[in-house]
Amino acid sequence: MQSSREIMQKTEKYGAHNYHPKEVVFEKAEGAVVTNPEGEKFYDMLSAYSALNFGHRHPELIQAAKDQLDKVTLTSRAFHNSVLGDWMQKVCEVTGKDMVLPMNTGAEAVETALKTARRWGSFVKGVEDGKQEILVCANNFHGRTITIITMSTDPDARRGYGPFTPGFKVIEYGSIDQLKAGINENTVAFLVEPIQGEAGIIVPPAGFLKEAYEVCKASNVLFIADEVQTGFARTGRMFACEHEDVVPDIYVLGKALGGGIIAVSAIAGNKDILGVFEPGSHGSTFGGNPLGAAVSLKALEIIQRDNYPEMAEEKGRYFMDKLKEIKNDDIVEIRGRGLLIGVEFSVNAAPYVKKLIENGVLAKETHEKTIRFAPPIPITYEQLDDACEKIKMALAK
Ligand code: PLP
Repeated sequence: MQSSREIMQKTEKYGAHNYHPKEVVFEKAEGAVVTNPEGEKFYDMLSAYSALNFGHRHPELIQAAKDQLDKVTLTSRAFHNSVLGDWMQKVCEVTGKDMVLPMNTGAEAVETALKTARRWGSFVKGVEDGKQEILVCANNFHGRTITIITMSTDPDARRGYGPFTPGFKVIEYGSIDQLKAGINENTVAFLVEPIQGEAGIIVPPAGFLKEAYEVCKASNVLFIADEVQTGFARTGRMFACEHEDVVPDIYVLGKALGGGIIAVSAIAGNKDILGVFEPGSHGSTFGGNPLGAAVSLKALEIIQRDNYPEMAEEKGRYFMDKLKEIKNDDIVEIRGRGLLIGVEFSVNAAPYVKKLIENGVLAKETHEKTIRFAPPIPITYEQLDDACEKIKMALAK
């Protein structure tokens, strides 16, 4: 058996250093609990950035994967497969939209949304092709492709990667005035995270999403919600836009859509928008593969059947109240919705994360001063109580 140390050294030696992982090796995992090669156990409070909303290896998802592995795993979209139609119908039912376009990673779904918006702008709105503009928010995180980092305001994400993609304007997150001022006759879309996850669990000012949606409607601009991290019950609603009764023109979906087993992403929208694609205009070899579709279909059934949004809402409130009992004047704010919670410190949070891990709780700081807590939604109250005791030991001063 290789030790955690040996495994980490090998990864550092042979892997490009585009990540700086915390010093914990996952060997096995089940539900909210991860075990390292030495047999030590930890609570997973990151859930792979919300891709593991179901916890690790949910038995029904594993079964769905196994069943599909015994049938067919990949067809490409050159042919039909027997699961894709059912999955598409389910995504449409869950989002309330007419159509879905499957991809694999979140970044691909974001790219797909950008392409959709530009085409819609050219084909439907009548903007001259090449003049389309898309508005985005400061401190956004939408992924890592060249076009997506063009939209980023994080120097670390952009350094050395130019030239960038034209056609984007950045406004302050939460500023209706800047949104209004940013819109002109060439604006085709406003892309926004309903809660900014990577920026540090930033909840927008009350009413912003609703008002922004109305501003977009008044100017014939598509409102695109990147729900890759916030979607599928994480924030206590199926989609975080529901907190303000907003139904976006396009949902961008990923992470939990694949049940924490396989990369499945998608955009969903109505026919007047997703109808802009014709054969040959966009695609992906693995997008819509039957293995992903089978797992994802089961995942969506579980979320609805077990009422994950309500579970996340109730456990989130319980968890937040416990976190608020922690006495430490380095803590500036505890915020979030459902089971997407940020604890912001006035100081660098990395030493606190180290203490959390030493106490058996896996979490990670985002933007230096905020620790994100996003446990699997089916975590039990008993586990949550135990984890909270450990969190208190690590974070109390
Ligand atoms: N959009 C949001 C809001 C995200 O949080 C992320 C990933 O963290 C992405 C897009 C990119 O997803 P992926 O890493 O699967 O490309």
